[in-house]
Amino acid sequence: MKKFDPASSIQDLLQFGEFGDVNPSITDSATYSFMEAKTMVDTFHGETEGCFLYSRHWNPSNKYLADALAAMEGTEAAWVTGSGMGAITSAILQLVNTGDHIVSSITTYGGTFAFLKNYLPKFNIEVSFVDITNLDEVKKAMRPNTKIIYTETMTNPMLNISDLPELSKIADTVGAKLMVDNTFTPMIITPIKHGAHIVVYSMTKFINGKNDCVAGAICGTMDYINSLSDVNSGTAMLLGPVLDPMRSSSILKNIHTLHIRMKQHSANAMYLALKFKEIGLKFVYTGMPECKGHDLMKKMMNPEFGFGGMIAIDMQTAVRASLLMEMMQKQGVGYLAVSLGYFKTLFSNSGKSTSSEVPEETQKEMGLSEGLVRFSVGLDNDIERTFDKIHYCLKELKFV
Ligand SMILES: *Cc1c(COP(=O)(O)O)cnc(C)c1O
Repeated sequence: MKKFDPASSIQDLLQFGEFGDVNPSITDSATYSFMEAKTMVDTFHGETEGCFLYSRHWNPSNKYLADALAAMEGTEAAWVTGSGMGAITSAILQLVNTGDHIVSSITTYGGTFAFLKNYLPKFNIEVSFVDITNLDEVKKAMRPNTKIIYTETMTNPMLNISDLPELSKIADTVGAKLMVDNTFTPMIITPIKHGAHIVVYSMTKFINGKNDCVAGAICGTMDYINSLSDVNSGTAMLLGPVLDPMRSSSILKNIHTLHIRMKQHSANAMYLALKFKEIGLKFVYTGMPECKGHDLMKKMMNPEFGFGGMIAIDMQTAVRASLLMEMMQKQGVGYLAVSLGYFKTLFSNSGKSTSSEVPEETQKEMGLSEGLVRFSVGLDNDIERTFDKIHYCLKELKFV
């Protein structure tokens, strides 16, 4: 049998709109009517198939997008949220009670780190931060009350790769769930196929790819997704980080071009990586055989989508990083901006921006250089020309 193909899986999903529309109609309603009062009561108790009650609970437009995500991830179900943080926090809170314990990668998105480190202690939920690439350290951190191992497939911003099959085995020893943020590598890696129990996304990034909204997603078993939306105890239902159906509709259209975009992001990033090597820059790109996570990524990836669009280069100091980024923006390489997965190239200094929630000594511990410039490589048609611009900046600044 052919390996799982997330792009074909989405393509095979035919979603007929109310009038046979090929782009399903947007359901622009907060509430829904019932012909019979009893059906409403049954819907409240989750006992009716295909009935909608209220849009914080479920909305048809959100359901179309969630179904496409479940197809892409090979999960039974999915849920969509108003932001990546809405997805991550709901997914975590659904699984932990006061007194529980979480083991997390020390390198995660800054907001996730802040939530785990500063927010969860309010509920007496303890988090042990580990080097997720050191499996012995992960094993040692596990406790009988560990409910989640949390990591990112490709971690932000150091671009380490998590060994999902091994982490899944470790989680299973205490009945914990392996929760994986796959924001950097949609389609490239399908975490569920490697033992992850729950996959979370910031759809703000590659999945939507247009930088016109924030959105998130949670993919998992039907039971788990139903538990999130339970009217009495569901975190997503009760905290209410719902996605607007207008946005669901636009993201659904963008998801159908995700495979083409991922291939182009990857091809462009690979081109730049090879050039960076030629001119002797210090950088991380998982597509390079000498990169620490390369072999592991090769084992897990759906190969046709490449190694992704993320490259980090080390400019040693924050001052040098700033000079380079400002000049690259003036030369039209792309934007000096946080975020990623956009059609234009974006670059930012991780230590001073998206990882600034991580205290400086922790940044050192995780090997994050203050001069790290993280690139999200765009969909440029002529990437050679883009490289020439970057090279020009590096030469002008006497950095190469
Ligand atoms: C951006 C990002 C998030 C947060 O998502 P929002 O949509 O901004 O809430 C979480 N994880 C990763 C890896 C991210 O890049």
